[in-house]
Amino acid sequence: MGNFKPRGPRPPNSNNRPPSGGAPHPAGPRPASVTPRPAGSRPPYRGGNQARSSNPMSNRSAAGTLKTHEGLVSEQTFAGPGGEHVRVIVLGGLEEVGRNCTLIEYKNDIIIIDLGLQFPDEDMPGVDYIIPNMAYLKGKEKNVRGVVITHGHYDHIGAIPHIIPAIGNPIVYALPIAAGIINKRQTDYPGSKIVVKNITVQSELQLGIFKVHFFHINHNIPDSAGIVVETPAGTICHTGDWKFDYHPVGAPPADLHKIAQVGMNGVMLLMGDSTNAGQPGQQTSESVIGEELRTILEKAKGRVIVGTFASLLSRVKQLMEISESLGRKIALEGYSMKTNVEIARELGFININPKSIIPIEKVGDYAPNKVTIICTGAQGEQRAAMSRIANDEHRFIHVERDDTIIFSSSVIPGNENTVQRLKDVLYRKRARVIHKDMMDIHAGGHAKKEDVKLMLSLFKPKYYMPIEGNHFLLRENAEVAYSMGWKEEDVFVADNGQIIEFWKDAATGLGVGAMTPEKIPSDYVFVDGLGVGDISQVVLRDRQALAEDGMIVVITQVEKQTGRLVGEPDIVTRGFIHTKENKELIVEAGLAIRKALMDIDPASMADPNGIKDKVREELGKFIFVKTQRRPMILPVVIEV
Ligand SMILES: [Zn+2]
Repeated sequence: MGNFKPRGPRPPNSNNRPPSGGAPHPAGPRPASVTPRPAGSRPPYRGGNQARSSNPMSNRSAAGTLKTHEGLVSEQTFAGPGGEHVRVIVLGGLEEVGRNCTLIEYKNDIIIIDLGLQFPDEDMPGVDYIIPNMAYLKGKEKNVRGVVITHGHYDHIGAIPHIIPAIGNPIVYALPIAAGIINKRQTDYPGSKIVVKNITVQSELQLGIFKVHFFHINHNIPDSAGIVVETPAGTICHTGDWKFDYHPVGAPPADLHKIAQVGMNGVMLLMGDSTNAGQPGQQTSESVIGEELRTILEKAKGRVIVGTFASLLSRVKQLMEISESLGRKIALEGYSMKTNVEIARELGFININPKSIIPIEKVGDYAPNKVTIICTGAQGEQRAAMSRIANDEHRFIHVERDDTIIFSSSVIPGNENTVQRLKDVLYRKRARVIHKDMMDIHAGGHAKKEDVKLMLSLFKPKYYMPIEGNHFLLRENAEVAYSMGWKEEDVFVADNGQIIEFWKDAATGLGVGAMTPEKIPSDYVFVDGLGVGDISQVVLRDRQALAEDGMIVVITQVEKQTGRLVGEPDIVTRGFIHTKENKELIVEAGLAIRKALMDIDPASMADPNGIKDKVREELGKFIFVKTQRRPMILPVVIEV
């Protein structure tokens, strides 16, 4: 959906990256353009076993009819091929880590699970983030019955301010912590009004034809839930981000009982987190990390400065509570850290005596071994607190010899060098640095292989669909299901935008499904602070060219009647070469342009576009031969 409004300001601090949860967060893939197939040219199904000819969205129903909106009529036979189908479309999160978003559609009812953002790659200069493409909902806004959120991480909620107003303002349903973060973030976008409804994990929602309920799951932010959607074709379960933690912090263990119960009633499709699914074993419990952190804090001679993700609220909670129990005051640094802790305290997730929290400027008033500083920037982000503290750019905190610095997070791939540089700076100051390769000071938030096996055993879905990860992560997740006997055709490894359809088999009454080769648009939509969707790949290419080789502006004056060059071309460069030291090259470039414009036919009128092309081409060649660079060339032609 192109240029939608309202335009929000750039968030005050973008340190609030979703946590990697110990997961390898590979850099996202290159943007892929997906063209929707024209109507009427449906190729045959890959996994389907019945021939079908009609459009799945047609209102013709083959076997039995199904009332919409008036609740589920499960005893009726759901239309088989040729009738209406339940469509499951993952718009983001199948080819990347981030911008998670799933649509479930049946006739005139659509629900959306999660509306996340993705952080840009290094080759997308100036882009703040990427959000799911909602072009498919154009004209269908009235069908959207609600948006259901699994948890409060930005890769699951970050696109809400940009997308909700553009799709008819559907209600957003979220558990308290997620709702708190969504509402707080909304204050950065005053023009965009959204309705967020607080739910509990016991809530049951009727959203159009879909009955939606939840199961409690562990992750590294509280209030994380999996979602159960009862559809006319069968039950669909979506895990969100999850792990099983038998000793979680501030939350009960995952509700295996409910999961098993849903499984007993029959699950047609399970959509499951792939982030760590390929890693052997079970995910570490958050409380193990707590024990390790307590030991470190007890032994620390001076101040303890911890860098972590602001969204890793379970970790932040432990750090604060352990510090308090050891008589340490706590100072928080980083905008997202402060706001998230505020939300968590309001909701009672973090229980701390207000006197234990001190403003950062008061840190100097206390003995070093009575202070813990919790800050953002464990990824070495330049403007974030940890980096400013390390580089003596912080107003109140400077690293001293007896300080203990803890990096309590994983390093997102791509950030290794930055983090290493940051560590070097800290070691140089002789601080004690502790990172996760040295001790168990970080637990991921995502299920590993053995966790996935247990989940599959409890749900026993007919179909399994790996979600939330790059393609290789989806494949690794699929392998787990194969190893337990799921057949390849029953595990759907799809691409973003690919339509998967489900219907009830007329003979058995059971839900069956197939991946279709059809795709809806899922191309990147960029948000760059100024707007949404108004920059494209072309703009990005220009930004890259400018960043790499700079630009040259060539101003030429030509006679209107003949196109003959008047005077010398004026050459201005930026980010290309230092003109003062390269006068000769500029003079030669001027000559090259002059030469290129010599053979213009004086009998005809000036052709500004022809002249521009010629300047671009000839000067481009000349510059490349001389410098091996390809700066952007902007010719300006003035007719006199
Ligand atoms: Zn998450």
